[in-house]
Amino acid sequence: MKRIHFNFGKFLIFAVMLSSCQQAPQPVDFPDFESYPVYDGQDLGVTYSKNESMFKLWSPTAEEAALRLYQAGSGGAPDATFSMQRADNGVWQQTVEGDLHGHYYTLQVKIKGKWLNETTDPYARAAGVNGLRGMVTAPDKSDPEGWENDQRPAFGQPTDAVIYELNIRDLSAYPESGIQNKGKYAGLAETGTKGPKGVSTGLDHIKSLGVTHVHLLPFFDFRSLDESKPEDQRYNWGYDPQHYNVPEGSFSSDPNNGLTRILEVKSMIKTLHENGIRVIMDAVYNHTGATEDSNFNQLVPGYYYRQNADGGFSNASACGNETASERAMMRKFIIESVTYWARAYHIDGFRFDLMGIHDIETMNLIRRALDRIDPTILMYGEGWTAGASPLPDSLRALKANTYKLDGIAAFSDDIRDAIKGHVFTPTQKGFVSGKKGLEESIKFGVTASTMHPQVNYDSVNYSRSPWAAEPAQTITYVSCHDNHTLWDRLAVSAPEASEADRIKMQKLAGAIVLCSQGISFLHAGVEMLRTKNGVENSFESPVEVNWLDWSRKAQYPDVFAYFQDLIRMRKSHPAFRMPTSEMIRTNLRFLENTGQSTVAFTISNHANGDTWKDILVVFNGNDHPAVIGLPEGQWTVMLNDRGLNEKGWDKVTRKITVSPYSALVLAAVE
Ligand code: CA
Repeated sequence: MKRIHFNFGKFLIFAVMLSSCQQAPQPVDFPDFESYPVYDGQDLGVTYSKNESMFKLWSPTAEEAALRLYQAGSGGAPDATFSMQRADNGVWQQTVEGDLHGHYYTLQVKIKGKWLNETTDPYARAAGVNGLRGMVTAPDKSDPEGWENDQRPAFGQPTDAVIYELNIRDLSAYPESGIQNKGKYAGLAETGTKGPKGVSTGLDHIKSLGVTHVHLLPFFDFRSLDESKPEDQRYNWGYDPQHYNVPEGSFSSDPNNGLTRILEVKSMIKTLHENGIRVIMDAVYNHTGATEDSNFNQLVPGYYYRQNADGGFSNASACGNETASERAMMRKFIIESVTYWARAYHIDGFRFDLMGIHDIETMNLIRRALDRIDPTILMYGEGWTAGASPLPDSLRALKANTYKLDGIAAFSDDIRDAIKGHVFTPTQKGFVSGKKGLEESIKFGVTASTMHPQVNYDSVNYSRSPWAAEPAQTITYVSCHDNHTLWDRLAVSAPEASEADRIKMQKLAGAIVLCSQGISFLHAGVEMLRTKNGVENSFESPVEVNWLDWSRKAQYPDVFAYFQDLIRMRKSHPAFRMPTSEMIRTNLRFLENTGQSTVAFTISNHANGDTWKDILVVFNGNDHPAVIGLPEGQWTVMLNDRGLNEKGWDKVTRKITVSPYSALVLAAVE
């Protein structure tokens, strides 16, 4: 196998000294990656105009660089090959006359006398089938009709978000989804679609559920699916990036035309926006799908990645490599890529895969760059890695460092696993399925991992102290695309429970998520008892395992209605989404001594402008009823097993009985 070119301290920069009197290409090297010259222009990649296009490549160790132009995205010989000219700060450039819209291109560099692979431009914004070549596109031909009128739907605080995590293909692939463009971008933009027994499906379903944001699993160009063979029906989530600034071709109606997918993604986003739903992109900058052969590595060997002590690729992603966000040109690449999606595609939020691999400074710089575009754009990520990283923990965007990430949230595995049990111990029960001793972990989640004087941190499952300074830094959730669906998890961990009881557990889990502070996050289908037939990691399972089976919505209408009610209650009662930890500490009090496997709290004082003066929330994780003593005054039951009744189900004083595996929300209106 090839070794990466990485020699500490051996070489001097002699090519630069000789360049004025030498015609022949010279080797260029630097003592370390940090010594590479930095280019701070914003024009790497292609700058198109009708009369000419300029190509710029950053490759400071190259001795020569070649640009090839092609008619098509695959096959055929190049129309032209150019020897690019060296410019300042490691840049190579080439201007080509004529209108190049629709032409495809590749790059290649020679380092230490050897031509590396012909490869694609990491900065490419369009690509042909399977990402074999970049594509030149005219900006005025890259927008669908009416794109200039596209508006982000109105949105307030990050804690107002109710996020729905969805794979584009899963939504529509089911044969009876009623959606025509199955598995495609356009499928998410279809309205009026009906499934079994006439239930609404697709976008109508998402809209009626009431979520504010759809978070889409990877739809940048990934490697794992052969875009030229849509008929082979292979499936993959797409956590194997190939081009960060290009949409994936397999969701497009025509992967062979690099422009089509761009227009289709924008049309999809425009339709979602018109329906009041914001769009979040799942971003995977922490590693590349290919390692030795990635375009990054074939153009600037080693630079974009972290190395082990022996010089090999380090692997905190468990996917063969980890990117080096702390290096100037990788940091620049990520910031420019994120802001490109925010500007060009009007993306409303970014979810960072294995965010714990990225350095804190880069994440904060992305936040500042997005703030300049629109401060309501959300940022959150996984505050962990999948393996050890050479960059010290103190510098990385780990969950424990979330308080240093202003305006960026981390997923709370504390509340996730408190609700359902430890994620890697599938048979373990959680609070909703009767496991004892998780009360403090639930309280930690209710307060969105912020400091609260009534939480006993010594008894929290994973965190000995709060890790969020503000509630907007916590993603409150119970399940996502990873690991079992909640319904499958309950089946594995509570096999003795009846289906009726497991439905109660699922509803209780939803109630805990949506009555807790922080940013609410739901895995698509949790509202219809989604199952993957027990498959724990379905990243490349057949589409039949992954799709949303719409017959379940017809089968369990009460579950869907209950989740609808929870979301409706959260959206109409701002007490559940307080924007500051100070407000939470002032208004949210836990009731003491409510008994084993119960958690009860009040939110008082018309918190955050709520119409309800005082709210009492009770979670009962027991398999038997719990009797809870009520604070003074008359209380009205607003939400119970039957759902939400804003006029109130019953009036009660002094005490109330909470049925097994269930939540109650009461209010004192005056
Ligand atoms: Ca692809």
